Amino acid sequence: MKLKQLEITLQRLAGFSLPQPALEQYLTPAPLAARLLHHALMRGDIGGKSVCDLGCGTGILAIGAALCGAADVIGVEVDPRAAAVAEANADLVGADVEFIAAGIDDPALHRLIGVRDTVVMNPPFGAQKVHADRPFIDFALEIAPVTWGIFNAGSLSFLRAYIQSRAVIDEMTGGRFPIRRTFSFHTKDVQEIEVEVLRIVRGDA
Ligand code: SAH
Repeated sequence: MKLKQLEITLQRLAGFSLPQPALEQYLTPAPLAARLLHHALMRGDIGGKSVCDLGCGTGILAIGAALCGAADVIGVEVDPRAAAVAEANADLVGADVEFIAAGIDDPALHRLIGVRDTVVMNPPFGAQKVHADRPFIDFALEIAPVTWGIFNAGSLSFLRAYIQSRAVIDEMTGGRFPIRRTFSFHTKDVQEIEVEVLRIVRGDA
């Protein structure tokens, strides 16, 4: 699927109906999701691959990966309501994705997911709960040799240090993430935050 067509298709997906601040439920905007996936596709990380989206929310990255030709896609989401929206979204655009409503700390997950080729994720940034992104990084590195993730701008040096003996960051692109007024503590209607899209490659890959 071409980049523009992917973006237009992802634009049709529903977002969170009742976003929960504690879970940092922010929908990745379609242009950013499409760009990440298209880039990952060009790098050979999506087409024909087994993919997992950790903290998939309403499914935009998982569904996009399926539309880009992934062989098999699983989305994991702790909030069952968001997972239900993700299911409906996948049906809407005819994407074949298996959604699992579970937290990434669920001990049954490893058995359900197995080993994957690629993780795509926009995890919580840790704005509400410090270091909330760490278990996502750990889990991603355990299950897949390659991870594409969206992180808060300025995370690069922390992430490099955090994954030091396990993986390297071999590509970084910047991006913007317009956040619409979602929660009562937001003071502007739309606020732009800077993000970093990183390709993280495990040492054995
Ligand atoms: N990946 C989606 C959502 C990003 S927001 C997108 O790109 O649009 C982060 C998501 O992580 C939210 O949906 C939130 O509910 C989920 N989440 C937070 N903690 C989680 C956990 N422990 N396990 C699984 N999902 C979690």
